[in-house]
Amino acid sequence: MHAEILATGSELLSPDRSDTNSLWLTARLDDIGIPVRRKTIVGDHGPDLQEAIAQALGRAELVICTGGLGPTQDDVTREAAAQATGCFLRSDPVIEEGLRRRFAERGLEMPSNNLRQAMVPEGARCLPNRLGTAPGILLETHGRWLALLPGPPREMQPMFLEELLPALRRHAGPLRMARRVLKVYGLTESGLDERIAPLARAFPEVEVTVNFSPLDLELRLAARGSGSKPEEGLESFCSRLREDLGSHLFSEAGESLEQVVARILRARGLDLALGEVASGGLLAARLSQVGAPLRRALLVPSPPSRGEPAGSTLLPWPADLPSARAAASRWRRETGAALALVVGPSRGSGQQARVPVALSHAEGTNAQELRLMAGPLLSTRASQGGLDLIRLGLARAPQD
Ligand code: ATP
Ligand code: MG
Repeated sequence: MHAEILATGSELLSPDRSDTNSLWLTARLDDIGIPVRRKTIVGDHGPDLQEAIAQALGRAELVICTGGLGPTQDDVTREAAAQATGCFLRSDPVIEEGLRRRFAERGLEMPSNNLRQAMVPEGARCLPNRLGTAPGILLETHGRWLALLPGPPREMQPMFLEELLPALRRHAGPLRMARRVLKVYGLTESGLDERIAPLARAFPEVEVTVNFSPLDLELRLAARGSGSKPEEGLESFCSRLREDLGSHLFSEAGESLEQVVARILRARGLDLALGEVASGGLLAARLSQVGAPLRRALLVPSPPSRGEPAGSTLLPWPADLPSARAAASRWRRETGAALALVVGPSRGSGQQARVPVALSHAEGTNAQELRLMAGPLLSTRASQGGLDLIRLGLARAPQD
């Protein structure tokens, strides 16, 4: 069985609202091994929705539609679903009675609009709504399931968990989906692809997607199977990948590089001093956002054009590799931090910039010249290069 999700609501097509229901539903469907093949967002327009439902039912055994079950004129899901499936709508006396009771309990008169919420396609099952007026609907038609759930997440989620999930679980059997997000630094997208291709052939049951960002590469793995099989499949895939990628692989839990560095520093009880030129304070910002133990952070402005001495009285100007080394070890002594990282200024012209970085620690100093793509993201890239030097330095340093 595979699924499609339809999110209805014109507001979801505006620039400032997004469909989060489908993300939540995808995670729950993963747990029971039902892959989501397609998601569609449709405005509050009956004919569009009718067409979308009919098309989705033509492709998927399970179609889950959220939103548009309310009492107002723009709530058209019920009617669209009836038309798409060729079912008649009839008023359900039990729901009608429930709606009247709900209003009476609050001392309110029920607007006649609300009677629309008692309309149910013939042969459908009603899914009670503990937290709102709109009941959900589950319709089985030609061996396909169409579920209509309310839009508000606080109503949709309990209804899915209590009413739909048990039925789907019985139907779907023992399958489940396992996922892992791996993060990689220091390889190009095609370089990574080259290393993954043979593995992907060896493990056809693992679905692999690569996402590229200016900072790092994200590798998303998914496997479907029964019991612990999908987890085991992902683990064998990952153990091969660990060998192939070596230290380029920095997280198997979707963490950012600053999260990884902060986690290791905290676990080892180490703190860090930063001196930044090309990274423009981004290292301090990124690390403090994730609660890394920072002893001191110093932002050193780029050298003024003429005459005046560059840098700061605290930190010698880290113009090249030897001076970045010297600056890092002096900054470590000066601050008393366990580690000191210095990111120097960027040099070079054209496409590529070179940035000296140095990390001083108890065993000595590691330094390296980063070769980075020039442009508006240079400071972000320099901060990522600096974080990676810390991570590699911590991996090499003896664990006490
Ligand atoms: P109501 O009875 O509240 O009108 P409804 O089933 O008709 O419920 P909608 O009118 O489509 O649902 O949406 C109501 C609210 O639910 C939206 O304003 C929005 O806040 C939230 N909502 C709807 N769809 C989604 C979605 N796909 N993701 C996240 N939130 C949603
Ligand atoms: Mg509504």
